[in-house]
Amino acid sequence: MPSASTNPPAEYAALKPWALPQGILYGPFPTRRKGRALGVNLLPPGDKACTFNCAYCQCGWTPVEVFRSGTWKESCPSLDEVRRGIEGGFAALQAEGNGPDAIVVSGNGEPTLYPWFEEAVELVLAARDQWFPKVRTMVLTAGTELGRPEIRRACDRLDERCVKLDAGDAKTLKKVDIPLVPFSLEGLVANCAKLRDVTIQSFFTQGAVDNTTEPALAAWLDRLDEIGPVEVQVYSLDRVPAAKGLKRVPRAELEAIARRASQRLGVPAHVF
Ligand code: SF4
Repeated sequence: MPSASTNPPAEYAALKPWALPQGILYGPFPTRRKGRALGVNLLPPGDKACTFNCAYCQCGWTPVEVFRSGTWKESCPSLDEVRRGIEGGFAALQAEGNGPDAIVVSGNGEPTLYPWFEEAVELVLAARDQWFPKVRTMVLTAGTELGRPEIRRACDRLDERCVKLDAGDAKTLKKVDIPLVPFSLEGLVANCAKLRDVTIQSFFTQGAVDNTTEPALAAWLDRLDEIGPVEVQVYSLDRVPAAKGLKRVPRAELEAIARRASQRLGVPAHVF
């Protein structure tokens, strides 16, 4: 199973390593967009489970055989463990005066894979209302499970839905995100339209995998236009990725990409 990128290869020496959370809550940790974020991990402690196998993933490679076998589900916390983890953790953070600026359902892979995702979201919301009523909640998702009504329902209960769109054409998406389940961009567009609103998060890389070529960007912009997000967030390498040979996209290029998205869609687009 993947573990923390504690000894990054020399090419990534300037990047931050990331340790897979061992529990249900992690943080609060500083983020560039949301201040101090408190993460909620519903997936197996210390192991990754994801429908994608992104080349840039800070959690390392998805253990494909384990994921496909489904045995990872046995290592997910029960709903009761999630309840206790969230309630105990939120109460402790409040007592310490260490409250977060945002609560992010994310964790060790694709959070919507958690078998009781809808119920877990209700637990997060109830705890937020009790301990940190002014703090916004959000989910980070690859969007692969959005075809399921109960997943869309749960996502819509949170304040923000951040859905990944790293490419607008299937060929580039396959190189960047390496889907492990049947996935289509047309399906993603259709499912996003059923949500109450969507923020799109897009990762850009150059080097061994490059989704910043003009054809790739043109397809990305077209797909963004179809989705119609309320906001677009673009970013590049910050933490040690799974694949070798990825290169961080310079800030000025990311800003140019964000500008194009904002001009095309008429919504805010930020680099973070
Ligand atoms: S969707 Fe997120 S967790 Fe899954 S492989 Fe990609 S970056 Fe990693």
